[in-house]
Amino acid sequence: AKQAGRNQYQFFTQEMHAQIAHKMELEHALRFALSQNQLNLVFQPQIEVKTGRIMGAEALLRWQHPQLGQISPQTFIPIAEETGLINTIGNWTLHQAISQCRQWLDSGHQEVQVAVNLSAVQFNNPTLVSTIETILAEYHLPAQYLELEITESVAMINIELTIKQLESLAALGIRLSLDDFGTGYSSLNYLKKFPIDTLKIDQGFVFDMLEDEDDAAIVDAVITLARSLGLNTLAEGVETQAHADALQIKGCDFMQGYYFSKPIEAAAFTVLLDQSEIN
Ligand code: C2E
Ligand code: CA
Ligand code: CA
Ligand code: CA
Repeated sequence: AKQAGRNQYQFFTQEMHAQIAHKMELEHALRFALSQNQLNLVFQPQIEVKTGRIMGAEALLRWQHPQLGQISPQTFIPIAEETGLINTIGNWTLHQAISQCRQWLDSGHQEVQVAVNLSAVQFNNPTLVSTIETILAEYHLPAQYLELEITESVAMINIELTIKQLESLAALGIRLSLDDFGTGYSSLNYLKKFPIDTLKIDQGFVFDMLEDEDDAAIVDAVITLARSLGLNTLAEGVETQAHADALQIKGCDFMQGYYFSKPIEAAAFTVLLDQSEIN
């Protein structure tokens, strides 16, 4: 048993070493990726339920590594957070997303807004508001075309700071949404103090709501809660027509998911926008 225990221990440390080495390798690769333009943004349409039109796009980061292939943001964002690289990456993302939105407006698409995800480090950065103000001014983008998404759990890290940051962002006219709503521990008491526009219903509830009564009840509850607080709801992870139909009946305001489109390159998104405006 002792022998087995030691082997287990050795196995464990070897695995930890491998993980740390892998992480350092990724960190190094990420720095390099930034300098080599290996990062890019894809855009996923957000649909207004009432009209069926595309009202906006969520910008999502992609890393195409020449040897390792696509690396998920769920892998590299945490590494970027730990190393501070997230500030550089985050600013790059804001520039790209905002300039893309400006291009859509310039080519005659009046109603499209762009949603950008903020990580915990970015959101808690004291320079966030002035950075965003500067980038919006640089591209002459009116603030109401920018939406910022923070997760429910990021919002709960430091409530006082969250309220302060959200109020400054809202004062600029930026739209704000709470991402992955329902997975964290929001106190309803704080929720009403956040100057947010939209609750994004986490895709986990949406996936299962047709089979699982509990998930259906949670989706209903979030929509009811949002309505009574004067907030919009956006359901994520809408993969089938059955999902979309059910959400429409439930009174959800916006939808996003593979049923409408996967996240796609800006040029492909422009084609979707053209079609959406013809129909
Ligand atoms: P998220 O913000 O909750 O983004 C939604 C994720 O669900 C995206 O994964 C999207 O591609 C995926 N998705 C959308 N519709 C469907 C669907 O119908 N079915 C399924 N199964 N999945 C769907 P992605 O692009 O891999 O991003 C994962 C997470 O990485 C994001 O979750 C977000 O937390 C983070 N992330 C992505 N881009 C950025 C960024 O620019 N900055 C920061 N801070 N985080 C980012
Ligand atoms: Ca998001
Ligand atoms: Ca989400
Ligand atoms: Ca479930």
